[in-house]
Amino acid sequence: MKSILLIFTLFLSCNSQKIAEIKKQQPLKEISVVDKNGLLEVKGNKIVNKNGKEVSFAGNSMFWSNDYYRGNGFYNKQVVKHLKENWKAEIIRVPMTADPEIHDSYIFDKETNQSKLETLVDACIDLGLYVIIDWHSHNAHDTEKEAITFFTEMAKKYGKYPNVIYEIYNEPLKVSWDDVVKPYSEKVVAAIRKIDPDNIIVVGTPHWSQDVDKASLNPIVGYKNIAYTLHFYAASHKEWLINKAQKALDNGLALIVTEWGSVEADGGGEVDATSTQIWMDFMKKNKLTHCNWSINNKDEGASALKPNTNMDGNWTDKDLTVSGKLAKGYIQNW
Ligand code: MG
Repeated sequence: MKSILLIFTLFLSCNSQKIAEIKKQQPLKEISVVDKNGLLEVKGNKIVNKNGKEVSFAGNSMFWSNDYYRGNGFYNKQVVKHLKENWKAEIIRVPMTADPEIHDSYIFDKETNQSKLETLVDACIDLGLYVIIDWHSHNAHDTEKEAITFFTEMAKKYGKYPNVIYEIYNEPLKVSWDDVVKPYSEKVVAAIRKIDPDNIIVVGTPHWSQDVDKASLNPIVGYKNIAYTLHFYAASHKEWLINKAQKALDNGLALIVTEWGSVEADGGGEVDATSTQIWMDFMKKNKLTHCNWSINNKDEGASALKPNTNMDGNWTDKDLTVSGKLAKGYIQNW
């Protein structure tokens, strides 16, 4: 009897040792920002997570997707991984070049642009980040048919993933909200909602996505999870634009800053750190999600990377421009 007990005790202790070893070998599965927060929703003028908690995220915007502008060299998974691990980015915006005035945009070369974009969307989903699919055009209402085709395909392919946010019109120019941007947006929203009932859709606003106050007087109705695009460049856009944004929030619009810069609105000029801090305080207070323009090495103020920086995401802080360093600090500590 004693020997049977001894054998049984030995068996048990060996077994628990084995279990402990197996546990040691298996790394804990990382909980990503999307695992934690799930499908986002618009609730009043806020974005909430799957538990109804108000949330906001910080990350990067990539540069235009077309070959001619050359920013699409950064459209690879290593770059997204670097931004996630080193910048603590939680959201990435992918601008599909869709302007009918650009010769190699989606309008003329759908295949190249869409495959570039999908590489990055897939990488974000794989790495557990939120991703904004951005129809990057200043004249989207002239290519409504193409926009509907594109977003229908995106909704079919990606509508089931909580990671995805659709941005349907980057920056309308000096056109009317009531007569141009809103009617366009309603048609594209309807096309997406035929397939995807729930992922957030961000709607652009006139004057380079600044007239959120105008949209707030005549918002899109009949659909849930609609937010509106606000863009700012801190060296050009000061208190007057904050006041417009505040008015839109007060009127009940949820805003997402899908693009911001610390420099001038044309992407050039010097960093305005004081104005950037004022904007960051405003976004923090109102829980606005934001993406910094942009991950590129073009020789201009808004580029986060110095000219000739490699395109594989293997960067140190020495590769960052003044605006890149400033943006990294805000994103890391959001
Ligand atoms: Mg969905």
